[in-house]
Amino acid sequence: ENRPVDAALRSEDTLEVALRPQTLDEFIGQKTSRENLSIFIQAARQREDALDHVLLHGPPGLGKTTLAQIVSRELGVGFRATSGPVIQRAGDLAAILTNLQPRDVLFIDEIHRLHPSIEEILYPAMEDFQLDLIIGEGPAARSVRIDLSPFTLVAATTRSGLLATPLRDRFGIPLRLVFYTPDELTLIVARGAKKLGLDLTDDGAREIAYRSRGTPRIAGRLLRRVRDFALVTHHNKGPVDRHIADAALSRLEVDQLGLDAMDRRYLSRIAQFHQGGPVGVETLAAALAESRDTLEDVVEPFLIQEGLVLRTSRGRVLGERGWKHLNLNPPPSISS
Ligand code: ADP
Repeated sequence: ENRPVDAALRSEDTLEVALRPQTLDEFIGQKTSRENLSIFIQAARQREDALDHVLLHGPPGLGKTTLAQIVSRELGVGFRATSGPVIQRAGDLAAILTNLQPRDVLFIDEIHRLHPSIEEILYPAMEDFQLDLIIGEGPAARSVRIDLSPFTLVAATTRSGLLATPLRDRFGIPLRLVFYTPDELTLIVARGAKKLGLDLTDDGAREIAYRSRGTPRIAGRLLRRVRDFALVTHHNKGPVDRHIADAALSRLEVDQLGLDAMDRRYLSRIAQFHQGGPVGVETLAAALAESRDTLEDVVEPFLIQEGLVLRTSRGRVLGERGWKHLNLNPPPSISS
């Protein structure tokens, strides 16, 4: 049966995978995390031990899954991936854990969404490579202990504060991923263009980089859209430069700072309905018909880093740059 929509989605996925860096050297940016990982990986290899458990935290699209795959490749071990919400029952996790080979990497994405009762199974597994399972029910129930191969858990979460302290404490290597600089993103875009066979000028790559919200996943997506635009409206005549990139990105409503329609709705809401704030995140979420988690994990981190919004104890406040970006004047009490 022919399902064009699915096919289109699949090819986008395939492209994203094709753009993924394969080694730590190919991985651009995140200098501190990369250097630390490199040392711990070398040490684990020399000792022939499993690498200590790694917790990666940071906004979506910064390379957590990519790094987890690279860790397994650099260790020369197997890679198994799952995610918090997918693991429904204790047995699901037990099946995964008992199938791991010595020193394998198990990647659990969105670990903050793991059910607490399943989280508890993870504690002895992480600490002593043991699994305590209750078999049967009622008076016939008994507990069995299963030895596991030593393994490395690489877990990802958008905010480490979402994890229970006992879980967070069991990661020997916690790494915080940060937004990428325009220079780093320019390199990522230029490399991506090369892999796609797209003739992109340096200033074209830079234009896309500046408008990617500090995020490689967004850079990759914008690059593919610019490539479509160049094909259809310019018939691939000549290299893709800053002007073509700008025309494509403006058509996608990505503005000069890289903000999208949702970002601008968020900023406008604070300016126009709350005189610049403070306003609670719940109020904003309801008004914008978004979940609070989406605002906190996806929308706000970049706006806060750029000084467009400030997070205060009384709520969100529009920053001076936020007013400027909206082309509005702050109320007199703020501007004085
Ligand atoms: P996360 O798991 O944090 O949401 P991913 O690892 O899925 O992010 O990365 C999203 C996309 O961004 C990947 O497909 C990859 O191609 C790209 N990417 C991430 N980090 C980098 C990097 N440092 N260099 C090049 N591309 C990257």
